[in-house]
Amino acid sequence: MNGPSSDSAASNYAANVAHNYGAPPITLVKGQGTHVWDAAGKRYLDFASGIAVNAVGHAHPHWVKRVTDQAGKLVHVSNLYRNEPQGQLAYALSLRCGPGRVIFCNSGAEANEGLLKLARLHGQRKSGTEGACIGVIVAEKAFHGRTFGGMSATPQEKIQKGFRPLLSGFTAAPLNDLAAWDKVIDAKTTAAVLIESIQGEGGVNPATPDFLRGVEKLCRERNVLFMIDEIQCGIGRTGKFFAYEHAGVKPDAIAMAKGLGGGFPIGAIWMAPPHDDLFQAGSHGTTFGGGPLAATAGLAVLEIIEAEQLIAKVAERSVGWHAELRKLVELRPDLVKEVRGAGYMVGVILNVDPVPVVTALREAGILTAPAGGVAVRLLPPLNASPEELAEAVAILRQVLGGWKAA
Ligand SMILES: *Cc1c(COP(=O)(O)O)cnc(C)c1O
Repeated sequence: MNGPSSDSAASNYAANVAHNYGAPPITLVKGQGTHVWDAAGKRYLDFASGIAVNAVGHAHPHWVKRVTDQAGKLVHVSNLYRNEPQGQLAYALSLRCGPGRVIFCNSGAEANEGLLKLARLHGQRKSGTEGACIGVIVAEKAFHGRTFGGMSATPQEKIQKGFRPLLSGFTAAPLNDLAAWDKVIDAKTTAAVLIESIQGEGGVNPATPDFLRGVEKLCRERNVLFMIDEIQCGIGRTGKFFAYEHAGVKPDAIAMAKGLGGGFPIGAIWMAPPHDDLFQAGSHGTTFGGGPLAATAGLAVLEIIEAEQLIAKVAERSVGWHAELRKLVELRPDLVKEVRGAGYMVGVILNVDPVPVVTALREAGILTAPAGGVAVRLLPPLNASPEELAEAVAILRQVLGGWKAA
């Protein structure tokens, strides 16, 4: 065993934690609101939010109370029995998604697995034959998770490399190129499309409203499921509860996770009628999914979003924030290409590798996340204040302003 150290996590990680994330640079020990502290006592503005997870910041008193109370009451029962929070969360989500049904799970990848299984069942219902209609159209640069289904739906070499053969039936087409989608969505063999309303990992690439409406129409014409991955961009992040709402479309099925639990692992899929009866008893399941503790965490997040009117606040506060961020292009036109995204999901697009910039920003006191090899991604909690948004801009100006050209 390693001896005592001021940062025992560092030695434990070096010796005992797998290196699939390389060597994480700091150990975080505490969070409060929009701030986290590392083991050396340094404070950071948290604009990574655990990758869009800490939707209501760290240690929100209402969230902590709801989760703590539930932990002392009932944590897990399995889906062999009902539990009250799961029913309440399914109801609360149906108010946001529309009439339909929900299946809970524990992560984003698992939610997408659910959607991909739904697509298979739909293809079977549509064609009358198992395996005859299994096509799923995805967008280039998409990210849908690290399971075999998720990887198969993620047309990126760096994700798929080393794990082939993957699932068959996936076709990638360029995001926002409706003519290309018109060509590949086949009435006979395509079961579903799967699209992020705003691509996160791929570099903060928004699907345009016209594109989403166009794909929705093609799906309706060809009896293809219109499936939306809202895992990163959903749960209020863009100033609507779901980012697809900006386009006025109506998905047949939605995947969510990340922000839904505010830090507690939970995922979900929602399915519209008539597809919400495709999963019959015995066809899908998970031991942990929708457990009372996870569902309570989800309810707490929705309660806080409602009580503090966070969706309206994100919509309102992001207008001025984006305007300030766009001034980074004027500050360093050689370095900053553009600022894109919606609400509190923003990519500062660089002409250089964002990874060293993210490191420099961290050293200057703000956590951000790189994306797609091009973006410094800003994902503040939905309750980040105007002062915190302004502080983030100030640090970005300082770090990018002083950045040495390559
Ligand atoms: C993060 C993410 C996933 C995968 O979620 P995990 O919880 O990491 O499995 C899938 N789709 C999108 C859009 C994501 O951002």
